[in-house]
Amino acid sequence: MPTFVRTDKCDGCKGQDRTACMYICPHNLMKLDKDGSETGHAMKSFNQEPDQCWECYSCVKICPQNAIEVRPYADIVPLGASVQPLRGTDSIMWSIKFRNGTQKRFKFPIRTTPEGSIDPYGGKPDADFSKIGGTGFFATNNGYREGDPSELIAK
Ligand code: SF4
Ligand code: SF4
Repeated sequence: MPTFVRTDKCDGCKGQDRTACMYICPHNLMKLDKDGSETGHAMKSFNQEPDQCWECYSCVKICPQNAIEVRPYADIVPLGASVQPLRGTDSIMWSIKFRNGTQKRFKFPIRTTPEGSIDPYGGKPDADFSKIGGTGFFATNNGYREGDPSELIAK
């Protein structure tokens, strides 16, 4: 189920051109309705294409006002429950609220490496464009392994 923004909590990230939820969404779905012409709620963000939402929770976690919620799937909690993360400096506190009012909380540590310090291609060789048309696997054998047709599931 896609995200929705609690208009009573969202402050439009204080009018910045790019709000936190717009910055973090990997699918570019969040949008600030500056003048209220799209939603009737000026200076509030909204999910402009709910069908495309991955429910990745990135915007929920980054929102400084805790204004974004996701209706969670029934495979995480029973229908009607809410699942809300609260980000701290070294952990995230997940609050689960069930339909019958029961509440549970779980605290998980988070990565504390400085933002932007990750080198995703560290130790991997540069791309070899002569192999661009072939099949292969980036993640094995230090960067490349020829495809093996016998490993195909569908033939
Ligand atoms: S990050 Fe939160 S407070 Fe900022 S615009 Fe998005 S929903 Fe509103
Ligand atoms: S849950 Fe993920 S995909 Fe959906 S709006 Fe938020 S950041 Fe974007």
